[in-house]
Amino acid sequence: MPIRLFDSLTREVRELRRPDPSDPKDVFSFYNCGPTVYAPAHIGNFRTFVVNDVLRRLLELEYGPDKVKHVRNLTDVDDKTIKRARDEGRSLSEVTQQWTKKFEDDCKALNCLPPHDSPKATAHIREQVDMIGVLMKKGNAYRAADGSVYFKVSSFDNYGRLSRVKERELQLGSALAGKPQAVDADEKEDGSDFALWKAHKPDDGANAWDSPWGRGRPGWHIECSAMSKAILGDTIDLHTGGEDLLFPHHENEIAQSECCNGVPFARHWYHSKHLLVDGAKMSKSLGNLYTLDDLTAKGFSPMALRYALLMGHPRKQLNFMLDSLQAAESALVKLRSYRAGLVKKAGTAARDPADVMEFDFVFGSLEDDLNTPGALGALFDDMKFPTPADVFPVHAANLLFWFDRAMFALGLKVDEPSKPETSIPSEITALAEKRWAAKQAKDFATADALRKELAAAGWSMLDSKADYKLEPLRK
Ligand code: AMP
Ligand code: ZN
Repeated sequence: MPIRLFDSLTREVRELRRPDPSDPKDVFSFYNCGPTVYAPAHIGNFRTFVVNDVLRRLLELEYGPDKVKHVRNLTDVDDKTIKRARDEGRSLSEVTQQWTKKFEDDCKALNCLPPHDSPKATAHIREQVDMIGVLMKKGNAYRAADGSVYFKVSSFDNYGRLSRVKERELQLGSALAGKPQAVDADEKEDGSDFALWKAHKPDDGANAWDSPWGRGRPGWHIECSAMSKAILGDTIDLHTGGEDLLFPHHENEIAQSECCNGVPFARHWYHSKHLLVDGAKMSKSLGNLYTLDDLTAKGFSPMALRYALLMGHPRKQLNFMLDSLQAAESALVKLRSYRAGLVKKAGTAARDPADVMEFDFVFGSLEDDLNTPGALGALFDDMKFPTPADVFPVHAANLLFWFDRAMFALGLKVDEPSKPETSIPSEITALAEKRWAAKQAKDFATADALRKELAAAGWSMLDSKADYKLEPLRK
């Protein structure tokens, strides 16, 4: 079946382009805007990256592993990364390398396939300067008095097609030109024109490069346009990111790329919706911002987080609760035991390749606009019958083949325990959560009783202001 996916530009579910199987050079090009590497990524960021990983896996299953090229960049120079380095008195590269490593470790723990290329913005300054040069030559950009270069939005007729920004402005009542748009720290403050090149300021410290317009650094948007062009070419098959990137980031990428290259930038745009935590936007001040480490410290496995992130449709906001992780851990136990049953029943039997396809609704749901909750539902439906006990070994071998393919598509690792031996049992995590809730509600009697219960089970809870950690008691 072809893969159908919502396209944010045309606002309809459309088939993705299928590369020509007989042309080895024809690959499906897929650019996913990557993280800004200045702090640990939170579980909202990982929702976006896990959804993109399922997409990558599905493309590989459908087109073949060597017919897909997946690029995910690293934003390693912008206001946030520079500020972090300055605040910590470290070099920009020290800070960004530290957080790139952490990001990659977390992605690995979440079983995300590494992209084929992870370009860093600082390694592509020349390409960015070249693109800005073309835009200057074509009259789409101008140099301001301080040496910054801006893209002239009025020079691109199609500006606003992706985000329908003109409609949105009418609703919000803010004019496109001449008014500040507090959308991100990278925007010019007095109008819709946006920075391509930012003249060096004292706060930037040593983080500046030479350009025909003076020393400075690139704007955020040009980074992706230039890296995408350098690695995947002028027109790409699919460009993705979280919903917040649609405007202005992707709108600006289209403007720069299409004015520079003179051809359409991306054939398909996909934006997944955000993750909320306990019904609210994640923020440090609300105490609801979780990283992967926060969850593993509570005893949950990275695989349970991956599962929980797939429980909602990627095009709907997903409300995350710790309870979802309990449900995810139980689902993983069932998947592991089902697989172990198939392995045992199949024994040494080989699958008959002429045998029927199994778990077809799992694949069908994913191919139908990446319906991950639909795929998980179909998986558990199909596991009800036949069970490993109901089938002959040769059939068990066939079921195992298709089950493993479904697990590959979803990126769920269920052929080994998802938790390390020393992990925290879910009953203990449940007790700890109860105690934490009691403490927050100032019900200290209940909190103390639960602490004793935990101690009796061999666990202690170390509280900090915003959170707690569980540790096994030494015997
Ligand atoms: P950043 O590191 O801020 O550039 O974000 C990396 C990716 O995470 C982008 O694709 C964002 O759209 C996405 N993202 C940020 N916050 C959330 C959230 N709460 N839920 C889902 N995705 C998010
Ligand atoms: Zn980007």
